[in-house]
Order: sequence, then structure tokens, then C-alpha cells
Amino acid sequence: MLSEFELIRRYFERKTQRAKLGVGDDCALLAVPAGNELAVSTDMLVAGTHFFADARADWLGHKALAVNLSDLAAMGAVPRWVTLALALPSADETWLTEFTKGFFALAARYEVELIGGDTTRGPLNICLTVGGELPAGTALRRDAARAGDDIWVSGSLGDAALALAGLKGELALSKDDAAKLEARLHLPQPRIETGIALRGIAHAAIDVSDGLAQDLGHILERSGCGATIEAGKLPQSPEFGRYATHAAASRCLLGGGDDYELCFTAPATTRAAITSLEAELGIALTCIGRIESQPGLRVLGKDGKTPLLTTAGYDHFR
Ligand code: ADP
Ligand code: MG
Repeated sequence: MLSEFELIRRYFERKTQRAKLGVGDDCALLAVPAGNELAVSTDMLVAGTHFFADARADWLGHKALAVNLSDLAAMGAVPRWVTLALALPSADETWLTEFTKGFFALAARYEVELIGGDTTRGPLNICLTVGGELPAGTALRRDAARAGDDIWVSGSLGDAALALAGLKGELALSKDDAAKLEARLHLPQPRIETGIALRGIAHAAIDVSDGLAQDLGHILERSGCGATIEAGKLPQSPEFGRYATHAAASRCLLGGGDDYELCFTAPATTRAAITSLEAELGIALTCIGRIESQPGLRVLGKDGKTPLLTTAGYDHFR
């Protein structure tokens, strides 16, 4: 039986380049370069709530890190380090091997260092804290939207939720489409490069983890403003488009979680800059509406005129 300390050494202790001290002492030691700020975020994934307990461990390792990196992306921060608190039912080495494979593959892509954590026996639970850096004062905050700003989203919306609807048997997806959509659900790609590139261009930003309507609602609430968006402009993947007329699909576009795209606001003067970013980054950036001083979120139907949904508050979608 693997001891706790052997387990940590075998699976989680890695050399660090940037951190002065990583796994193995009572604390890690970090330095933030002068003129920079530290962006810190924590996300917990609980078996049965956020994923199926028998989910592929390499996918879980990827997703646990990806959803945390997505929060750094939404602030425009450069990812630097991560801590991992893990509750495991048993020291299952096959599971640990697969989990760390997925985790460290994504960590390597963004040069994120695992600098510490905690390991304990218990129902499967994965809690990460990530840290990133950005020049002081440049973070893309939720409270920075201004009336007149365009509202943009990266990539496409609703794919992960549509995949989940397919897995639950709410609609029948073709085999090829299901594979592509399920990749969005299990292996989300944090929009790190996009977030960093948007510093100095965007006003406010958030990552779409709980559905566009709800997450945009957080920007509106924090910024003390409202918005009108057009349902017909919400970006769809080709796979999603094949099911767009299905009742489940429109719910996925506005209310589907787990997309981890960025929703951001920017003044109209930055339109050309955003369009050239799109080509540079190879990620679609779509303008879906406008920030207004009147509170509430107004969603116009496909014709761009008929109100589809209106909310005075901010918590009414799901
Ligand atoms: P302490 O009892 O002082 O809190 P631990 O015995 O819990 O320390 O952990 C020993 C070292 O291993 C610490 O540096 C801790 O950060 C690290 N560590 C423990 N679990 C993990 C993990 N799952 N991933 C990364 N580092 C871990
Ligand atoms: Mg200690």
C-alpha cells in the first residue's frame, strides 16, 4: 500500500522553474515580479455534482485544471502556478497515473507549476487554486462594463450543454457530432491567449461557466448596467447548428454551462482591433449585443426586433 508521502512524491512532486520552492515543504515560496499583480482563484470539483465518479481520470485531470485556468483567462492573467487538494477514496495507482497525465499535459502547455496541495482519503473531490500574473491595474474585471460597449463572446456557445443533453438521452446526436460535442464537455480549452490579448482592449470580462445569460448577468450586476443581446447572433459550432431547431438547443445557447468561452465588453472604437485579434488567435470573436444604462438583460429573437426574454434581475435564467 502506497503511503501518503510516497504517493505525493511519485505523482505530484515536480521540479519547479519559476517558484523558489515547490512541493515538499510546509509552504511553497513565490515571488511576483515588480509592477505585477497576482490573480488567484479556487474551484472545486465534486464527484456526483460536477462529474460522474467513474469519469475518465485523464479527462478529469485536464478539466479540473482547465476550469481554473479559465478564471485566469477571464482576468487576462498569465498562468503561473497551481495547488491541488485531492480527496481520494483509495490510492488507486491506475487512476492517479491517468489523472496526472491529463493534468500535467495541460499544465505543460501553459507552463503552470504544481507547487503544493493536500492529499487525504475521502469521497473523490478535486480542489485547485491557481495563480497568475498581470501588469498592475490591467485585469479584466466584471465591474468595468460601460453603457455603449459592444458585448462579445469567443468561440461557440452551448456545445457542452448539448453534449450533456445527448448523454442524458434528451435528444439523439449523430456519432460524429456527439464525439465533437463531448470533447467540449470533457476537455474544455481555457481561452488564455484570448484573455491576455484583450488586456487594454476589453473593459469587462467573465468566463462562461454557468451559461451566457447568468454569466453576462454578473457583469451587468457588478457594473450597474443592462444589456440587449440578439439570439440570432449567438455563435454556434457546425455540430450545434445541426440541432439548432431542437427545443433543448436554444436553452443550451443562453443557459448551458461548461463552455468556458469568454464573454467581454469593449468600446466600439476597438472593433477593428478585435477583428484582427480573431485572425491572430484563430478563435472566432462574435459581437452579440450592447451594454445599456437601463438595468436588466433583454434578449431579442432571430429577427433582431421581437423580445424573446427580458429579466429585470440577474438570477432568473437556468
Ligand atoms: P503539511 O502537513 O505540512 O500541510 P503535507 O504532508 O500535507 O504537508 O504535504 C507535504 C507536501 O506535499 C507539501 O509541500 C504539500 O504542499 C505537498 N502536497 C500534498 N498533497 C499534494 C498534492 N495532491 N499535489 C501537490 N502537492 C501536494
Ligand atoms: Mg506543515
